Amino acid sequence: MEITSINPANNQPIKTYQADSAEVAEEKIRKTHEAWLNWKHTSFAERSTLLKKMAAVLRKRADELARLMALEMGKPLQQGASEVEKCAAVCEYYANHAEAHLQDQVIETDASRSFVTFQPIGVVLAIMPWNFPFWQLFRFLAPALAAGNCGVLKHASNVPGCALAAEEIVREAGFPADVFQTLLVGSDLIPKIIENKLIKAVTLTGSTQAGQKVAQQAGAVLKKTVLELGGSDAYVVLEDADLELAAETCVNSRLINSGQSCIAAKRFIVIESVAGQFTEFFKAKMAAKKMGDPLEQGVEVGPQARKDLRDDLHQQVLKTIEKGAKCILGGEIPAGDHAFYPPTILTDVKPGMPAFDEELFGPVAAIIVAKDEAEAIQLANQSVFGLGSAVFTKDIARGEAIAAQQLEAGSVFVNALVKSDPRLPFGGIKESGYGRELGMFGIHEFVNIKTVFIK
Ligand code: NAP
Repeated sequence: MEITSINPANNQPIKTYQADSAEVAEEKIRKTHEAWLNWKHTSFAERSTLLKKMAAVLRKRADELARLMALEMGKPLQQGASEVEKCAAVCEYYANHAEAHLQDQVIETDASRSFVTFQPIGVVLAIMPWNFPFWQLFRFLAPALAAGNCGVLKHASNVPGCALAAEEIVREAGFPADVFQTLLVGSDLIPKIIENKLIKAVTLTGSTQAGQKVAQQAGAVLKKTVLELGGSDAYVVLEDADLELAAETCVNSRLINSGQSCIAAKRFIVIESVAGQFTEFFKAKMAAKKMGDPLEQGVEVGPQARKDLRDDLHQQVLKTIEKGAKCILGGEIPAGDHAFYPPTILTDVKPGMPAFDEELFGPVAAIIVAKDEAEAIQLANQSVFGLGSAVFTKDIARGEAIAAQQLEAGSVFVNALVKSDPRLPFGGIKESGYGRELGMFGIHEFVNIKTVFIK
């Protein structure tokens, strides 16, 4: 089998790679397991030094990696460079904090000494999406290596160049051979790979459908999974919000990665009395964003990552309009052979429409009007997803109470756009997945939380 990367800005092939056969993948996993038998005994100091070197390699190669992302999945260059910087930051975070996060915890019992120790578990399979080809991987890989685990990667089929570059970065940083390897395989080989006895756990970032399949397969052989899945998160704009700031933040969130981010705001739930004013600010800011070739400086919105995904998105927009929504910006595919989709706004969106019920993974904003705070919260929570929500209000106590107690999501931000941060746990509830990445909670997902009891 071959894997071909395609430039979504012009639909031209970039490069064709020979995919790994089942036998090659099995051999790579065996080698990574062997590497783990030594890696698990390394000290935190050694792991920390290598993670810091990896941060330096990432920074050194930032421009080249940004270009690779622009070519393979259409991310504008400046955003690609920021993504690489974030990968360097997560390496440094775990270089500096893994030892403290994984310190033994003494617990008083009737033993002469009893404690909990956090031990590595082995090779973890990481199945990753194309939208943040490096960040999604490094936020798994940095804590995994810091905890003494090893990893193999199955990356999305449209970013094979990024997948191989990640392997090179680990090597160039000086990590022992094979502690991390890329498997160039399609998802058809995944059931067999999950069954491989040397794979100890699986992490998947991707769609809810892929998460469900992988969780079933891993469940059948009793392997732990962490699932970071889709979202259709609500940003609630209350009547006392700073509307201009709210509109600016909402637009920036909706257009993260040309609209293709799990935690991008997708549904904007606005109180009736301020809906007109908010929509005006929102439309002006969406319309001002520059769409174009991701390799060009100053471009804010690139093409969608694949033409088929862009076409699916357009169908969701058309069905939402058919069901009664209005399109006040965008909504039309520009002529030519490419995967571009313009910033688009749908108003009068209601439950029962795709833009309310499903995830729209592109630069399409759904504006939903609520009569008051209670209805806004009810509409926000009326979703199968629960990843990252936000609330806008000048009354900070009100915002904090809504964030902490009312909105159903793994993260809720007040007066700010939802973003991941190496110091804070990140993950979802409901069909957005389970488990956490980042921070102390993230590094605890793939360790044996072992109890030791000494009489
Ligand atoms: P996707 O189609 O689910 O693909 C994600 C990864 O899963 C790819 O490597 C894909 O491989 C693989 N895959 C797909 N079906 C599979 C199966 N049946 N068995 C095993 N592996 C399978 O998702 P995507 O289009 O790349 O990414 C967009 C989705 O990811 C959105 O829903 C988005 O919200 C979500 N996402 C979530 C987070 C988060 O942190 N919660 C972050 C980013 C993205 P192939 O490419 O070979 O199919």
